[in-house]
Amino acid sequence: MSAELAFNRSVEVDYGVAEEVAPQVRRIVANNPSPYTFLGTNTYLVGRGRVTVIDPGPADEVHLAAIADATRGERVTHILITHSHRDHCNGARPLQALLGGDILSFGPTGTERGAGAPGLGEAFVDPAFRPDRTLQDGDVVKTGGVTLDVLHTPGHAPDHLCFALVGQRTVFTGDHVMGWNTTVIAPPEGNMAKFLTSLEKLLARHDKVFLPAHGGRVQTPQRVVKAYIMHRQWREQTILTCLEDGVSTIPRIVAKIYGELDADLKAAAALSVLAHLEHMISRGLAVAGQRGHGAQPAAETVAGLASVYSVSTGASSPAS
Ligand SMILES: [Zn+2]
Repeated sequence: MSAELAFNRSVEVDYGVAEEVAPQVRRIVANNPSPYTFLGTNTYLVGRGRVTVIDPGPADEVHLAAIADATRGERVTHILITHSHRDHCNGARPLQALLGGDILSFGPTGTERGAGAPGLGEAFVDPAFRPDRTLQDGDVVKTGGVTLDVLHTPGHAPDHLCFALVGQRTVFTGDHVMGWNTTVIAPPEGNMAKFLTSLEKLLARHDKVFLPAHGGRVQTPQRVVKAYIMHRQWREQTILTCLEDGVSTIPRIVAKIYGELDADLKAAAALSVLAHLEHMISRGLAVAGQRGHGAQPAAETVAGLASVYSVSTGASSPAS
């Protein structure tokens, strides 16, 4: 089985220009490209006359001015946030100051696992973000002749929402499913078991188009979601093989399966391996050993402790 998914990365962008990407849907790409955001964050304008903005993006004056330009003569009624990562939500309050509209998101998760992961913590997560009103799975948002169904899809982030455009079999998938890459699952914010459950949730729907927060339209949603699931199964298998071969700490597993990486990507890879291990431990496929003092089972740890643990296959452990 191949590790690499085939993504279409040949997307051209005109930053700041509103482009019609589906009936009643315009997209403006923010100029914040990075290894995590691809060409930048997609802001969607849904409806005409009365407009809902999905993910205002970063607090970038030029981008917010482009949203204001595109909606001149219209009224922004809602600003929806897929999740409280900075590249999606930091522009919410400044945009509201400019154009109005209620800010709606899942809201604080009570974050039992915290947002302070070293390397991938507050640089990504905005722990202070609060909406005007919270949304739950099953809620409905109506605006400018369109209706959006709210789907709670935790995994990439505990508060992650997708929004389904009713009657068009089109879903705004945020960072849950993207057109250019697999999604980063980085504990403590990310949770592999929940991510997989949220993928199954999308699979059970039969949508025609996904509009992600990064990258172009996904024209074959079912295939991409299945490929995401297979990719995770394949990755879990490679980690299991490492454990069977006695490669039993996260840094060594990362070195073995990813090869040479720069420091930033190495941290992300370690968190991804931790996410898989948590999921494997919860199903008895692996057990956390203890190296050093005060070690807890990995399922209860934050990412900063990732390197503390030695792990082994559940099968070979007397404890399982
Ligand atoms: Zn993002």
